[in-house]
Amino acid sequence: MLFPARLRICCALAALATALGCGGRFMARRDRAPFRSAIEPAATAGQLVFHGDAPVGRNRRLLDELAAQRTVIADRLALPMIEAPVHVYLYADESTYHREMSARFPNFAGRRALFVEDRGELAVYAHWSEQVADDLRHEVAHGHLHAASAHLPLWLDEGLAEFFEVGAARRGFNRPHVDYLLGQLDAGGWQPNLARLESLANAADMTRLDYAEAWLWVHFLLESEGNMTTVLTDYLAELQITDAPVPLSAHLARRLANPEAALVEHLRNVGQAF
Ligand SMILES: [Zn+2]
Repeated sequence: MLFPARLRICCALAALATALGCGGRFMARRDRAPFRSAIEPAATAGQLVFHGDAPVGRNRRLLDELAAQRTVIADRLALPMIEAPVHVYLYADESTYHREMSARFPNFAGRRALFVEDRGELAVYAHWSEQVADDLRHEVAHGHLHAASAHLPLWLDEGLAEFFEVGAARRGFNRPHVDYLLGQLDAGGWQPNLARLESLANAADMTRLDYAEAWLWVHFLLESEGNMTTVLTDYLAELQITDAPVPLSAHLARRLANPEAALVEHLRNVGQAF
């Protein structure tokens, strides 16, 4: 028997050894029982409820930063502040994490971190590592976003998570994405195409380039000059009342003669500025 509701999984691009797409929408079997009961709550921070044996209590600064992401995201995107809990299952031991993730989410085995929305419950799974702060910022951003916006398109969900994973102090700037995109652009291996990104329905189809381009559109909308932020916030407001809004690419086409050319110009500008 299959779940009647959609199970959506996302994960940090950095979690992929092969740098391929990482999330997905798929149906899961009901007999894969949740294992929350096996892991007692370890700490809380705002809407976040931490479970597991990782030493999160010793890193209060990180917990508070993750909890504060909800306000940062709500402020930047003009989204409501929702009280829904986000459960974070954090493992001290990497091999235990991978063994349990392989059993529960076999299609996503090997991923360093996961975000799962299952029948309204928001959950993050990750293990302690040198990259745990980036991993948690990415996955918890998904949690805050899903709590506040029910119909986020896949590309925008990932682009926003990539933007917020670097931490508020860096204002979304992701140097690896910039270098990768500039390299692909100059090698003739990439031209931006927002309508193509919008057509992606399965995160398994998203490549490293797609993640980087999704991040760039978000950075362009939130950080470039010309008050482009309202294009994104108006779109997100529309998403609050319909799951089939006018695509963001159509809004941009009304605003700019050539949105893709403006995006490339933004990429070259930030590549030189930082
Ligand atoms: Zn993600």
